Amino acid sequence: MDACLSNAMARKKPGGSRCTHVATLLSRRAWIQKAAICSAVALLAGCATHRGQSLADLPAKHTVRAERLVIHSDSPLEEHSPLVQELAELRHDILSTLNLPEPKRPVIVYLFRDERRYSEYMRQKFPSLPVRRAFFVGSATELAVYAYHGDNLAVDLRHEYTHGVLHSSLKNLPLWLDEGLAEYFEPPRNREHVNDEHVARLAAAIQGGWQPDLPRLEQLTGVAEMQAMDYHEAWAWVYTMLKSDNGDAARLVEYIHTCRTAATPGHLSQAIASSQTTGKDRVIQTVSALDPSALSSSVVPAAFARPEAAGQFNLE
Ligand SMILES: [Zn+2]
Repeated sequence: MDACLSNAMARKKPGGSRCTHVATLLSRRAWIQKAAICSAVALLAGCATHRGQSLADLPAKHTVRAERLVIHSDSPLEEHSPLVQELAELRHDILSTLNLPEPKRPVIVYLFRDERRYSEYMRQKFPSLPVRRAFFVGSATELAVYAYHGDNLAVDLRHEYTHGVLHSSLKNLPLWLDEGLAEYFEPPRNREHVNDEHVARLAAAIQGGWQPDLPRLEQLTGVAEMQAMDYHEAWAWVYTMLKSDNGDAARLVEYIHTCRTAATPGHLSQAIASSQTTGKDRVIQTVSALDPSALSSSVVPAAFARPEAAGQFNLE
């Protein structure tokens, strides 16, 4: 859910009920600063303690390297295991889809044996972070993914690892696009970037009169601001443009490339403002065509159904 940037940042892990992104989080920038401070303190002290407690160790028993991917794991992991192979394929998919050059920085995955060990480490090392199933934390020294063996590991890793690959190449990716791309590459490969939950909730919203609003999404700069519907919409814009055959894919890739070097890449909505084919109507058409049967009132986006409880939503 969150996104990272030039300093340090962390990303969430999705899925309606799957995700545990709490709306009362620190602002993205604020907690990035805190995470950076935390890491700096640990480095300066060279210590293994935190608040008088022994700091849980990072997974280090087993290490697998696959090109720019390094996995440190508590449990044995084969280089040719499906999990490692899938991440390697995902990396190639991301780079080829976005026409990005081979990044120089590796992404380090720390894979804990279980939730308890993972949670204890994250609590001690990143006390300001919310409880999540997985995190991406980027800093000047490391692009790190933290996750644990569990039922959702594959999904979590695809999402967080996507953030890692993006941040190894791009400097100033807007929050909405960072999350939209992570959601786009999160589904298993055979799903062709379609997440049923996104489709179902967006279809119901469209039936209720909802309209995509990219300029509004672009104003979101803090993780705490992003509601579940924002993640659905971010995915929808990315999916619609990258799957298009009218030039939208090239426009989005061109915009993403400006994020490689530009300190302030501007807004995508401005870059596509003159296009006659890119816009909210196309997003609605694309999403509606994916699964018309999902146009049911039985699925109501959480952000619409319970606005009074907005501060308690689980987001992705
Ligand atoms: Zn994310």
